[in-house]
Amino acid sequence: MPNLNDIMEMMDALETKAVITVPTRCVAVRNRHSTCRKCADVCLADAIEIEKNEITIDAGACVACGACIAVCPTSALISVDPMEEELAAAVAATTAAADGVTVIACARKAARQVGDPDKYAVVPCLARMDERLLVELASRGITDIQLVDGTCATCKYRAAEPCIDDTVASACELLAAVGSDAVITRTADFPANVHVADLRKAVGAARREFFTSSGHYAKDVAKTAAEKVVNDKLRQLKLAKEEQSLRDKLGVKNGAGKMPVIDAERNLEILDAMSRIGEPVEPEMFTRIFGDVEVDVEKCSGCGMCVMFCPTDALRKSLDKHPDKTRAYMEFSMAECTQCNLCADACLKKCIEVVPMVSTTELFDFEPRLVEISASKSGNKLFNRKK
Ligand code: SF4
Ligand code: SF4
Ligand code: SF4
Repeated sequence: MPNLNDIMEMMDALETKAVITVPTRCVAVRNRHSTCRKCADVCLADAIEIEKNEITIDAGACVACGACIAVCPTSALISVDPMEEELAAAVAATTAAADGVTVIACARKAARQVGDPDKYAVVPCLARMDERLLVELASRGITDIQLVDGTCATCKYRAAEPCIDDTVASACELLAAVGSDAVITRTADFPANVHVADLRKAVGAARREFFTSSGHYAKDVAKTAAEKVVNDKLRQLKLAKEEQSLRDKLGVKNGAGKMPVIDAERNLEILDAMSRIGEPVEPEMFTRIFGDVEVDVEKCSGCGMCVMFCPTDALRKSLDKHPDKTRAYMEFSMAECTQCNLCADACLKKCIEVVPMVSTTELFDFEPRLVEISASKSGNKLFNRKK
């Protein structure tokens, strides 16, 4: 059992990390030709550096807005404050207390002490929200989801503001495609039923949120805080272990040259939630979550680089024989395409394109589609990836 000093040291270490990277999930780490810089592009603090197959986050510069987490197509970035599970639990409890209305506020709005802290969940910045939780809530019958901020103009996170609108628009697009009647609103005010009745409760909670979101834990550490730190640390160690085993599979040391496949977890959870809501009512949707691929077969050499580097196995080798000997097939699973663009970046002939307009029929079909490519003239071994 760690003593108080150990716990304080752990706290200091955790305070410097709001985001954990899982490098082997990052497409820029997996392939240096990757053009993905979505996280670095949204980072208002210039805290993310990607170079030579490495991704690093300057913990001192990071302001913990969480914007990078929401935009990463492969879930290579993980929020530590709050953790996914903590946020989901807080949302569930506060939604129940607010009679089925989900309210999520930024910490700065919470500090204004207007809302009843038992009836809304708090994130450091609303840029931390992603589509997964919003669509999941709608699939559980929540029809009124309110994201409350409204003080962005003077906030240290203000550069992350467009990310919030992007996430809301993206979640709304996903919900509209299946005819959901859930409404996600970004608003400056707490709804009337969430207004505080007891000012003292709000003052206490706002203070607690301020300390938590700022990473300044009180020195008289309470038992619950200590438990949280130890649990977080254990989780970090687990993640590091997972990362290590993935690195091994990458063959960095033994030169095996094969890419391990990662789960398109977020995609599948979103699709699952959408299918709980209903059948598609729109033939197509424009989205940043799923992608489609188009191959210019005349330019394609059949080298299989796209299959080789697709991190989620959305593109894979097909055993189907093409009737024309100069052509071949690969399989494409739209549900698992995260729009990471690595297939296009890795393609030597620049003949594959990833597009954000997807067919909802194909998406909900779950069956992979055959995509015509050129037959490899040299029987390139790259296309012999097993699985
Ligand atoms: S895959 Fe994620 S972590 Fe890697 S560069 Fe893209 S957005 Fe950043
Ligand atoms: S949490 Fe915000 S500040 Fe920190 S690395 Fe991500 S985008 Fe940058
Ligand atoms: S098909 Fe292309 S864009 Fe889609 S997940 Fe695979 S590599 Fe990424």
